[in-house]
Amino acid sequence: MKRVVVTGESQCGLEDFDDPGVAENYAKIKIHAAPLCTEFHVFLRGMQRPLGGHEAAGEVVEIGPAVTMVKPGDRVAVMPQSGCGVCDLCTSGDHIYCPDKKDPKAICGNETGTATLGQYCVQQDWLLVPIPDDISYDHASMACCGMGPGFNANQTMQVMPTDTVLISGLGPVGLGTSITALYRGARVLGLEMNPYRVALAKDMGVEAVVDPTSDDALDEIMDLTDGKGVDKSVECSSVETAPEFLIQAAALRGQIASPGWGGPINARDVNRKGLTVHGCWHWNHQRDASVMMGTIRGAESLLDKVITHTFPFSEVQQALETRASNECGKIILHPWEN
Ligand SMILES: [Zn+2]
Ligand SMILES: [Zn+2]
Repeated sequence: MKRVVVTGESQCGLEDFDDPGVAENYAKIKIHAAPLCTEFHVFLRGMQRPLGGHEAAGEVVEIGPAVTMVKPGDRVAVMPQSGCGVCDLCTSGDHIYCPDKKDPKAICGNETGTATLGQYCVQQDWLLVPIPDDISYDHASMACCGMGPGFNANQTMQVMPTDTVLISGLGPVGLGTSITALYRGARVLGLEMNPYRVALAKDMGVEAVVDPTSDDALDEIMDLTDGKGVDKSVECSSVETAPEFLIQAAALRGQIASPGWGGPINARDVNRKGLTVHGCWHWNHQRDASVMMGTIRGAESLLDKVITHTFPFSEVQQALETRASNECGKIILHPWEN
């Protein structure tokens, strides 16, 4: 099979690898949609090695002897990372926090494992979310990082039409978060300075986008909320100062969810304002799979705006250059197209 390999600074190509094998409860998936996430950092630095990738949707083509939950021919979204499958976190759908993750490369005896920037990957059967027939692979692949963490933020904070939601960082994760917040009928504000992404967010229906580096940024958010601050906010920028900004911008008794990995928060202000802060790395695929697929189905036109580019595998160089330029929303590779 073909796999994306970085060959030099901002250079990549495709190389041949052995297909991954299956064992135990692992299934082999033929990947039809492989969204790009943060892999472009490795591409820019020229670290010469295969690119991993952790987002995919595709078709089950082979199953291990202990697989019970999928069969060949099933269309599935592949959840990122692994999990032991037996701890309380795994069995309740929060495998992403499992402290005892399995090693699919060792178990299946192959060199690719769950890496998704290739034509095949393997994953445990319980980490494959069925895709309804009327949802495309591209759209279903947004159930990984594209919409996953922000969807969890919206679910956890129970975002509703009476809420004003501030989204910090309108890159692929922030734009994906906007999809769910807009679909749920909330008033959405953004913090972003990249002109391409500001324009894209406004086209989606984000009411106002404030430049977080401006001296007036906090005043602007306060003006937009009649001096009260925002009810709910989602940190998607991973900028060091962003969590603190959201604490200042929060309404009293407000909520903040963070898919981002930014800097410190001040417990004194959290307590003084009575805020609730949630960590949102991924989403709960056992409890919320039908809500996720329902959101994807209902928000189709917003997904088509956020998925700004798709590339066949042969154009992976252009795909990663586009991702690195930040002149994009979500980018999806099609490993079986030339
Ligand atoms: Zn576990
Ligand atoms: Zn990701």
